[in-house]
Amino acid sequence: MTAKSAAAAARATVYGYPRQGPNRELKKAVEGYWKGRVSADALRECAAALRRSNWRQLADAGVHEVPTGDFSYYDHVLDTSVMVGAIPARHRAAVEADALDGYFAMARGTQDVAPLEMTKWFDTNYHYLVPELGPDTVLTADSTKQVAELKEALALGAAARPVLVGPVTYLLLAKPAPGAAADFVPLTLLDRLLPVYAEVLADLRAAGAEWVQLDEPALAQDRSPAELNAAARAYRDLGGLADRPKLLVASYFDRLGEALPVLAKAPVDGLALDFTESAAANLDDLAAVGGLPGKRLVAGVVNGRNIWINDFEKSLSTLGTLLGLAGQVDVSASCSLLHVPLDATAERDIDPQVARWLAFARQKTSEIVTLARGLARGTDTIAAELAANRASLASRAGSALTRDPAVRARAAAVTDADGRRSQSYAERAAAQRAHLRLPLLPTTTIGSFPQTTDLRAARADLRAGRIDTAAYEERIRDEIREVLSFQEKAGIDVLVHGEPERNDMVQYFAEQLTGYLATRHGWVQSYGTRYVRPPILAGDISRPEPMTVRWTTYAQSLTDRPVKGMLTGPVTMLAWSFVRDDQPLGDTARQVALALRDEVGDLEAAGTSVIQVDEPALRETLPLRAADRPAYLEWATEAFRLTTSGVRPDTQIHTHMCYAEFGDILQAIDDLDADVISLEAARSHMQVARELATSGYHREAGPGVYDIHSPRVPTTAEAAALLRKGLDAIPAERLWVNPDCGLKTRGWPEVRASLENMVTAARDVRDGLPATTS
Ligand code: GLN
Ligand code: ZN
Repeated sequence: MTAKSAAAAARATVYGYPRQGPNRELKKAVEGYWKGRVSADALRECAAALRRSNWRQLADAGVHEVPTGDFSYYDHVLDTSVMVGAIPARHRAAVEADALDGYFAMARGTQDVAPLEMTKWFDTNYHYLVPELGPDTVLTADSTKQVAELKEALALGAAARPVLVGPVTYLLLAKPAPGAAADFVPLTLLDRLLPVYAEVLADLRAAGAEWVQLDEPALAQDRSPAELNAAARAYRDLGGLADRPKLLVASYFDRLGEALPVLAKAPVDGLALDFTESAAANLDDLAAVGGLPGKRLVAGVVNGRNIWINDFEKSLSTLGTLLGLAGQVDVSASCSLLHVPLDATAERDIDPQVARWLAFARQKTSEIVTLARGLARGTDTIAAELAANRASLASRAGSALTRDPAVRARAAAVTDADGRRSQSYAERAAAQRAHLRLPLLPTTTIGSFPQTTDLRAARADLRAGRIDTAAYEERIRDEIREVLSFQEKAGIDVLVHGEPERNDMVQYFAEQLTGYLATRHGWVQSYGTRYVRPPILAGDISRPEPMTVRWTTYAQSLTDRPVKGMLTGPVTMLAWSFVRDDQPLGDTARQVALALRDEVGDLEAAGTSVIQVDEPALRETLPLRAADRPAYLEWATEAFRLTTSGVRPDTQIHTHMCYAEFGDILQAIDDLDADVISLEAARSHMQVARELATSGYHREAGPGVYDIHSPRVPTTAEAAALLRKGLDAIPAERLWVNPDCGLKTRGWPEVRASLENMVTAARDVRDGLPATTS
């Protein structure tokens, strides 16, 4: 392949880079500032040094145009709110007194003032702060941050392109401000927002920006005709400005669909599109509109949100096709590299034969540069890289880690019957009632009890070799005794062991399953200064030995009441990991499900009559486009049923979900065929109980009566009032009493008081029930 002489040579670029620094310097500086140990100037200097070092790294690696403005002390959507002046009234005084402290007050709240709400950025695990907009919101431009960061990069001699959240996405991500009508549509503020963007664009132009990127990932979701019209209008107006930089409109995470012709027709200078697997349709859709003649196309061929090396030949073939479809084709990752860790070479504990399959932000950057060079100057100029890439891909495809014949044979032999309980729900419910003999409105918890500093210290001591395994396990047993004795005294009906041994509900299992890799430095920003290290689901999954049975049976040995076994479900195991990209997700889920099915079987054999399989991530992994949802829900619910269907009819299967609106997945909840579901419900005043009831759900349910996200102790009367609301929707025979979620982030004093009140509330309500039931 040779580059077309007519087009300018392909350039390499990225949309954003991990912000934290190689040793999470940013986290330390920001948290130090909050604690008063780091001055504002020192924080600013730390941030500027991290930005400089990122730009130098990118430029040295051969990136032609570096991004600016993607850096953030906390969150880039919050930065956008500041840029357009959308400061909620309750934070205005703080922002006027001190811009930096006011910024953090919006992010984190203060004693007296609530922060902005936080939610997931599309279907990633990054959380942004939700803009609050109302009919009275006055929008004004503040380009300070954007202009300053552009100037910093230009001063280094780099070609730089500011990256902004686009106006349409910004409004679509917003919610009505407190005080505004609940049905207020933030998108109606578009006419007020566009002049603000025009001003920022002019400032950036004056500061030396040739190009500005406007990110519109919200257009990769299903959009109404009115929303598509708004997008058309936005880019007609911004494109029509007299003195403006060139505009590059970017989308990612899925295909652009109906929005593609809209943006292709808009008077902007280029589009950046996702061309990875999940957005492959962009290629055909782009061809169908006749491409982008005379315009710039930035091709996101390197997956920006997973950690596997690129398939160079495949990417070059995509890029080759694209050459005919635009005036200029540049190469990039599909989205900001914010969603992957910094540097795979830091992972010295991973077998080098496996590490060569991994590409974190640094490695992705050099992949992009290589592809751009191959595209610009011909593949013979990257012959060595191509050969190495081919060899690494072959090593992955042929590895025993990714191809375990026993796992594959077992997965292939799965039948429909394996995913079905031996009896209908009604028969099982009767068997369970006889077996468990629980009172009406049984009380339980979601699994974890407080993860105290003391427990975390014990784990750190074990890791550092200060204590041995025997001493650590003794510490865990002490904790389990404590948790059991409290629950018995409080009068809870179905007990838990409290999960003291678990660092994290996914990592704990990943560490014990063959096929999973752990990283040491693979930090990814989850929100603000919180970073997570998702495990890597790299190979075929098997379970060398039982993972939870020891702790559960120890807990059961201490009490006559049923102790609930606690597992993380297959969908959540995938959702909070980096997943393999060399087979369909459903195949991976099935392997994880089979490993968990064995654990469920072992728990039952050891005498566990109630087993909970948590799926808090079922809703969040729902594909962005409605058309893709049925296929996802099919494999997801099948994996759950495969995990749980091997048990006797009188063994009760629970599941748990939280952090979500469940309206979209009520049918899927039923399809799980679990006997009992516990759900977050306290803050929405039992709305989910009503939704379940109207959807015809006929199993048992425990909508949470106690909001565990706050240290506040609910009174008995409050818990009882919520429970009575629950009873309006779900009859007493099928209603459970439990908190919204696990208690691991709470402290013991409030947990004790809250659970005691919850149990008293259950008794009060139970006593008031007509005597005929049960
Ligand atoms: N069993 C887990 C716990 O209680 C569930 C956590 C979750 O839903 N996120 O901590
Ligand atoms: Zn939960």
